[in-house]
Amino acid sequence: MQNWLQKRVALTPTRTAVRFNGISLSFQELNTAVLSLAGKLARVLDDNPRVAVLMSNTLLGYEMILALQQLGREIVLLNYRLAPAELAFQIEDVEITQVVQADTYTGQLDVVQQVTFDYVQSQAPQMVEPVAEFALDQVTTIMYTSGTTGKPKGVEQTYGNHFYSAVGSMLNLGLTASDTWVAAVPIFHISGFSIMMRSLIYGMTVQLYERFDATVINQDIMAGDITTISVVPTMLKDLLEALPSGQCYPETFRTMLLGGGPADLATLRHAQSVNVEVVQSYGMTETASQIIALDPTDAISKMGSVGKPLFPVELKLAHANENGVGRVQVKSPTLTVGYVRQPAKFADAFEDGWFDTGDMGYLDDDGYLYLVGREGDMISSGGENIFPDEVEAMYREMPEIKEIGVVGVPDEKWGAVPVAVVELVDGADVSATDLLAYGREHIAHYKVPKAFYRLSKPWPRTASGKLQRYQLQQFIVATEKIN
Ligand code: ATP
Ligand code: MG
Repeated sequence: MQNWLQKRVALTPTRTAVRFNGISLSFQELNTAVLSLAGKLARVLDDNPRVAVLMSNTLLGYEMILALQQLGREIVLLNYRLAPAELAFQIEDVEITQVVQADTYTGQLDVVQQVTFDYVQSQAPQMVEPVAEFALDQVTTIMYTSGTTGKPKGVEQTYGNHFYSAVGSMLNLGLTASDTWVAAVPIFHISGFSIMMRSLIYGMTVQLYERFDATVINQDIMAGDITTISVVPTMLKDLLEALPSGQCYPETFRTMLLGGGPADLATLRHAQSVNVEVVQSYGMTETASQIIALDPTDAISKMGSVGKPLFPVELKLAHANENGVGRVQVKSPTLTVGYVRQPAKFADAFEDGWFDTGDMGYLDDDGYLYLVGREGDMISSGGENIFPDEVEAMYREMPEIKEIGVVGVPDEKWGAVPVAVVELVDGADVSATDLLAYGREHIAHYKVPKAFYRLSKPWPRTASGKLQRYQLQQFIVATEKIN
């Protein structure tokens, strides 16, 4: 396929490509800036085909990524929220020798050569020829998974992965000439990066934000020239809470694409009550963004479901139990070609040619997928399966509870039983009896935690805020037991 940026410039040079902090660039202007940067980068890069970038959502960072792509480099997208040791692991694992980074992050890494944006910009650009082809089987980006279940895996994503991801999303959401998609999710994650690639493929405007500020974004949506925004559950909550009462989004606004983690029904209902169309979606770094999504017209009738597989994607539930809960397995042209330096781990993820996501779910009679949790978090207790997500969601509605995490502990009689680590709201006072009674009132008795422990140190979370349940075992200490 022809180089997407060059193709896009040939097709719609004057259309707006990106807006950031009041600056607006057409595809032609963006290309000029990108090729100039590519010429500067060519002076400072070594021969390693892989180059890492460390940056937040800025226009310069956006152009830097595109410039590396124009030079045909494999771009390793690093997450600036990671601790130095976590970054060092990824840098070593992926065998890069240079990190091109925003000046803000100078000094964070000492394991590799740091090339600051300032240094790149100070170079006199040399003439460079952008790569002619974006071959569909060629790796263009490497992103690490969030590390929710263990050490992050380096996911190799090809042009083909990104292309089919963009096409699959568009066949679900549709496309209009005036589409403007907000990227306030990080572009070093697939959620944000996929918006960049869609922009090139669709000829669509990206409105980029360095920080997520619900009030500012609501104002911009109200102003009428934003049609779509990608959000994770906390962002959706914040946007709804910041919306002045009595106000609704304008007709021009089309879709709030929600993904990344489970959304609670109360928030989805809140969105519905103010006429915000939320399209739930499900995907992972390995599938180059969403692979399953709700059709916008089902957003209300199938609330809580993550939808049906997008057009290019096949879905199967393997090893389903009597309740229909099984392992979510997929086939998709958006599926990664491998994990960096871990071919065995990647091969192990397949069963009869299907990629096992590690997530569990069930289908309703109409074929809509509902997720229940991760296989590794499931607690098998006396022949019943318990998913911590369900138990936690129920307890989060209890006024005294600020946050809760549920894990299984070994049990002689039942094999395993659920126990909970809880963070109480300031000044709250509850007994184990109260907590048990609340649980029994709302869910099956076998799902109710057998013991409750006070949170004794900060919750173990990934840089994107996901709870690492596999670490919670260490939080279960007798001295913190609630009686
Ligand atoms: P790691 O693979 O390193 O343990 P991770 O799986 O959290 O980390 P990501 O690729 O960022 O890394 O996240 C993908 C996962 O996020 C999915 O496998 C799924 O568990 C969860 N997820 C994504 N979308 C949803 C959703 N709509 N509802 C519930 N969970 C979701
Ligand atoms: Mg994962």
